[in-house]
Amino acid sequence: MLLWRRLWRRSAGRKRQPVEPQLNVTRRCSSVRGEVRVRFAPSPTGFLHLGGLRTALYNYIFAKKYGGSFILRLEDTDQSRLVPGAAESIEDMLEWAGVPPDESPRRGGPVGPYLQSQRLDLYGRTARQLVESGRAYYCFCSSQRLDLLKKEALRTGQTPRYDNRCRHLQAGQVQEKLAQAVPHVIRFRLDAGVEPFRDLIFGRSHHEVAEVEGDPVVMKADGFPTYHLANVVDDHYMRISHVLRGSEWLISTSKHLLMYRALGWQPPTFGHLPLLMNKDGTKLSKRQGDIFIQSFRRDGVLPEALLDITTHCGSGFNTNQIGRKMDQLMAEFNPSKITTHSALLDLEKLPEFNRIHLRHRIEDEEQCQLLVADLQGRIQQARPAEVRDERVLHEDYIRRVLHLRKGHISSLKELLSPAYSYLWVRPSVSSQQVAALTSEAQHIASLVLKLMAERDGELAVDGLGKDLKALAKQAGDTKYGDVMKLLRLALSGLQQGPGVAEMMVSLGPAEVRHRVQKLSLLSEAG
Ligand code: GLU
Repeated sequence: MLLWRRLWRRSAGRKRQPVEPQLNVTRRCSSVRGEVRVRFAPSPTGFLHLGGLRTALYNYIFAKKYGGSFILRLEDTDQSRLVPGAAESIEDMLEWAGVPPDESPRRGGPVGPYLQSQRLDLYGRTARQLVESGRAYYCFCSSQRLDLLKKEALRTGQTPRYDNRCRHLQAGQVQEKLAQAVPHVIRFRLDAGVEPFRDLIFGRSHHEVAEVEGDPVVMKADGFPTYHLANVVDDHYMRISHVLRGSEWLISTSKHLLMYRALGWQPPTFGHLPLLMNKDGTKLSKRQGDIFIQSFRRDGVLPEALLDITTHCGSGFNTNQIGRKMDQLMAEFNPSKITTHSALLDLEKLPEFNRIHLRHRIEDEEQCQLLVADLQGRIQQARPAEVRDERVLHEDYIRRVLHLRKGHISSLKELLSPAYSYLWVRPSVSSQQVAALTSEAQHIASLVLKLMAERDGELAVDGLGKDLKALAKQAGDTKYGDVMKLLRLALSGLQQGPGVAEMMVSLGPAEVRHRVQKLSLLSEAG
């Protein structure tokens, strides 16, 4: 954060924009290193969840804000933990969420392939390069020996670590074992003397890795690289300018920097994003399946509401208001405002975010058209036999319902709940229910029918509200409140719900007449 501030100040005199240094370089000279290229690099060992979406989103906004590219790379080197379908789903979910990559396994791009399992040659070559330069070595230790080391460390209360034994093999011994095809891995030689680096968010960072861990495996016996090697190799060959990733990787960065140095490569700039946590500070749970993007999608959560809530709880923006869409997020994004505190997510507020964004969609003609089609499908699916008639599926009818309910409903699904069934299905009302409210139902019904005739089909919520108040005064002994209860019952079969005037406007004059006439008949029967 401090660094960003300093950079902000440094650039402020020239240009009132909080730009990162390489960006300035970018704008002035168009060398490859100057181009802004960021990546989101999940492992398809699980489906995309909110934490991942947030990391992808910050990368996306960063890329778009500074005219760069956003890359999706799938890190599938741990073949034993792959989850079928996860790779496709991650990309689907990014597209759905409105965070589409410019380059990806599906889209391809100039530095592909974007799936690590298709880049094995490159890792193999790099690992050999490290061996040849003496920065890595073959390790033939058996799993039994490694297990023993581990047990021994635990017995003496130490943290298990490899003892770097194979570092000291003679060249002849190595050749002999290779010739005998003894199973082996390649380990990177961790040197002491790590140079501190400047993290864009955490500031000066430094982890003397050689003091706490043994030489890490970079190539496994199955010919696959480990995360650390593949990650460094790809960030280099994919010309990544900025690595913006979760703060759980901060302690690995010194190790990565040692690899860059060993390979003679210029490292990217690093920025570690604080974690997303539950509002009580506990780890965001993936167990209940309630933070997976596909669950939100299935439950009718709008992607813009998800993006809004994940950025609302975190830092990195000039202001913190609810209801922002992507263009506003981009305009307000300010990397110098990313703090090191965890972002606390309050998912209980999600319906509120969804309500606001659903309203925005209803108010946008094009989006509203899509909502209408969506709702038509849902109604047909949910109530095929009961739908009162074709008219409730009519575009104009559904559009009117949406406009009247915007700001009240949090999802389209809600409109199919029993509370709104009166919109699609005629309610069943008994004469006892009517009688329990008033003995003047017939009279009240006739007043409503008269009002409808006077209004000649022109119904508006405000005007109707006033008319109904006036009407209640002529209702004899029945009080205003009971008149409204009666009408609500006749129109919806419910005791609670939207205002009576709104119900009348949404149902439309013909249907209101039908339901109110039925009320007359019921009171006669009673
Ligand atoms: N594959 C790593 C993960 O799943 C990527 C970490 C990084 O961005 O470097 O989080």
